[in-house]
Amino acid sequence: MAYLCKSQVQLSETDVLAVYCSDHRIQAAVREFLDVNLDLRANYDSLVVPGGPQCLVEFEALPKFAWVGRKWSRALIRLHSLKRMILIAHHECGWYRWLEDYRPSGNPVRSTQENDLRAAGRALGQISPDTAVELFYAVWDANGAMTIETVPL
Ligand SMILES: [Zn+2]
Repeated sequence: MAYLCKSQVQLSETDVLAVYCSDHRIQAAVREFLDVNLDLRANYDSLVVPGGPQCLVEFEALPKFAWVGRKWSRALIRLHSLKRMILIAHHECGWYRWLEDYRPSGNPVRSTQENDLRAAGRALGQISPDTAVELFYAVWDANGAMTIETVPL
């Protein structure tokens, strides 16, 4: 079997890294947000893992996750001279439910996720001090309409 893709290889450079969750429910809407709202037109590096930016945050019970998340990010930043970091968390994130088994936080999940977004942004700033960080939180309504909101640094 061979499939000829309608999309072509992106030959121009990028300076953007997008970090978001691997949850299947958000993929199309997040890509639309990146491509249309931020006008990136599929020209960005992606780090897509369960919990998204949480992989950059020190977490005592699971230290290897932050270690590898930062290794991947450092590699992409250096290999591609990335300068703009876009970090997106989302509500109903299963990864955060899974983390509760390791650390009952007592905080509403959104505030924990927003704190993690800021911590992830600081971690990227330590890797590369001249990077710009943008933080976002995705929510959706009962009909599945997604809104992506800016989170203050
Ligand atoms: Zn998620």
